[in-house]
Amino acid sequence: QAKVEGGGCIRLFDQALRERSEQVYRLLSRLRKAISLEQFELHYQLQFDMQTLQPCGMEALLRWRDGVNGLVAPDQFIPVALEYGLMPTIGRWVIRQACKDNMTLIETGLLDVVVAVNICAPLFSEAGFCALVHQLLVSTGLPAERLELEITEGVAMNSSAQVLQTSDELHEAGIRLAMDDFGIGFSSLNRLKKLRFDKLKIDRSFVSGLFESRSDQAIVQAILGMAKGLSMRTVAEGVETEEQLAFLREAGCSQGQGFWFARPMPLPELIEWLRERR
Ligand code: C2E
Ligand code: MG
Ligand code: MG
Ligand code: MG
Repeated sequence: QAKVEGGGCIRLFDQALRERSEQVYRLLSRLRKAISLEQFELHYQLQFDMQTLQPCGMEALLRWRDGVNGLVAPDQFIPVALEYGLMPTIGRWVIRQACKDNMTLIETGLLDVVVAVNICAPLFSEAGFCALVHQLLVSTGLPAERLELEITEGVAMNSSAQVLQTSDELHEAGIRLAMDDFGIGFSSLNRLKKLRFDKLKIDRSFVSGLFESRSDQAIVQAILGMAKGLSMRTVAEGVETEEQLAFLREAGCSQGQGFWFARPMPLPELIEWLRERR
């Protein structure tokens, strides 16, 4: 009896697995096509200085413009792209496009700030990553100090000598480094010190929990205190309310990013937004 049931179970599992792999396979082939046709877009979300409440940076956020599904959010395709080794190729496109767009924006005279680009682990860990970034800066004309790279704790904790060397080289070249989603991974504070981060981005989950749990307030205050001690600037992610903003300003956070300030926008819309605000 048990044997029969077990067999049925395996068959069901087998079928689910086959369906899932067919889904992944279809997604992959559409993604490969999207890469060759460059069917991606970057939307930009402004970051604001907490003292002046003026824009002081922006983050490039990737979207896939798919013929069938329209605009696809990053969490719908980045995991699969990562698993199948497509992210470094996409990432190179992202860096170039973000540099170009920031040059365009600077030339409008509306805003002259740093553009932050998210970098996945395999790309950041490539030997020659720094040379690649340098080459993209030269070919787009963007000054090094107008580019910032965001990596997550997972990348930073990769103990390879390559990651350490890349972080040193970026620092020497004047390219800034930010740690994204800080507080939800496993950071060793020693590693944090060694990697020359200019900025810590406090993960959105702590910001959204500020008035739901006392511990999130304590965590945010502790992160801000540590960052100050290490001379790193801080950005609060996902600021959605006036109350969150007030708390973060009072606590000494340097910058804020979130729907309360501005949503991510395609470049033409961002330019329009800035014009209207002038
Ligand atoms: P992230 O780097 O932490 O980016 C911030 C995410 O929070 C963005 O989601 C942004 O739209 C969202 N967000 C901003 N303000 C608010 C807010 O006030 N409330 C809420 N609920 N959300 C807010 P998005 O664009 O869907 O990106 C998700 C993640 O995908 C990013 O998280 C990043 O890890 C990854 N990603 C995006 N673009 C790229 C890229 O070019 N390369 C790589 N490797 N990863 C990327
Ligand atoms: Mg980011
Ligand atoms: Mg983040
Ligand atoms: Mg986040």
